[in-house]
Amino acid sequence: MIEHSFDPGPVRLLRLDTGSDLISALTDFAVERGVRTASLTFLGAVRRAALRYYDQDAKGYRDFTIDAHLEVISGTGNISILEGKPFVHAHAAFADADGKAYGGHVNVGTEVFALETTVFELNGAAPVRQFDETTGLMLWGPPSQ
Ligand code: ZN
Repeated sequence: MIEHSFDPGPVRLLRLDTGSDLISALTDFAVERGVRTASLTFLGAVRRAALRYYDQDAKGYRDFTIDAHLEVISGTGNISILEGKPFVHAHAAFADADGKAYGGHVNVGTEVFALETTVFELNGAAPVRQFDETTGLMLWGPPSQ
């Protein structure tokens, strides 16, 4: 297990603009405000959801889009560092008009209708993502000392 410790930083509520890209908007926010580590939650609605599923055997992502107006039932994520820049990692569950649920890793291409986000910034050395041979994923490396 790899462990990073932090002190609580500022907590911000963000209302994302209608028509914005969920991941891009949160990434731009992190870059502009210098947020390098955070935990985040979000809820609201999207006009479409671009999602990814990680195939653990093939060690590759399968991308798919739900082209419908959806409720964001629950979204969660974090911000850490990938290739020197803040990287937003988010997963979410969505529901259609019948209450049928979809979910996965939220990809660029998810268009916001209305979204309320809480960003809990964390003060301390930001975790840096590095390639993990076992999973094939870019995961948090050990704290740098
Ligand atoms: Zn993911």
